[in-house]
Amino acid sequence: MSPAANRRPEWREEETEGLKKQILWISSSYMKRRSFITTASSIAVGSLVTTSSVRAEIVLPALPYAPAALEPHIDAETMSIHHDKHHASYIAKLNDALNALGKSDANAQDLIKDISALPVDQQMAVRNNGGGHVNHSMFWQWMAPAGSGPSGPEGALAVKLQSTFGSIEDFKKRFGEAASKRFGSGWAWLIVKADGKLAVTSTANQDNPTMKGVVPDADLGTPILGLDVWEHAYYLKYRNKRPDYITAWWNVVNWAQVAKDAATAKI
Ligand code: MN
Repeated sequence: MSPAANRRPEWREEETEGLKKQILWISSSYMKRRSFITTASSIAVGSLVTTSSVRAEIVLPALPYAPAALEPHIDAETMSIHHDKHHASYIAKLNDALNALGKSDANAQDLIKDISALPVDQQMAVRNNGGGHVNHSMFWQWMAPAGSGPSGPEGALAVKLQSTFGSIEDFKKRFGEAASKRFGSGWAWLIVKADGKLAVTSTANQDNPTMKGVVPDADLGTPILGLDVWEHAYYLKYRNKRPDYITAWWNVVNWAQVAKDAATAKI
């Protein structure tokens, strides 16, 4: 156990071959996780070179239910692989990109909104893996065990869906079409646009409706429901039958969460 345990971060100095290093120790009890910040400085021919780094540590959020909780509609094995392997992989690669960018403390949701502001060589990594992390974090929350909450949209959200799409059934039809017609990998979305209107959209790969300059302006908005139609989301159980997966998925939509997100997005 380091002498810094249970104490505030503490600078320690080391010197090796003329290179003076200052190491900031933060104890595990202080940060809950042990991490460190290093700064190294050296003076050579009158110039001062200083570098510092903090490792990015975005961690995989736990599933809000057991992997088998969505059965029979979504099987436990698919959920385990999807969360433990696919989502974890987006996070590992996002952390690598954040470290390369020196943005260890960046908020992924904020970062993906303006991909074009990032250095070109990291844009695709943040777009794919930042998008993957944000999309999946929301996706787990938009599902819940069948019968554990409202069976459909209620209140202000139901009224708005009806006035926008004609009926709840028409909305589900439109959303299902967006999901089934998405060529290759991607997502179907219900978004709240800047003017407060609802829209059904679809994006390729891990693109998210908040990504300015990536998603067409007309499709920009705050997602309040999304469906992952990558084959990894359904292939073990549904094989090539994506429409069957979409039909079954409605049984596990967490309408309470959707209503909450709709209220936050001020529909
Ligand atoms: Mn996925």
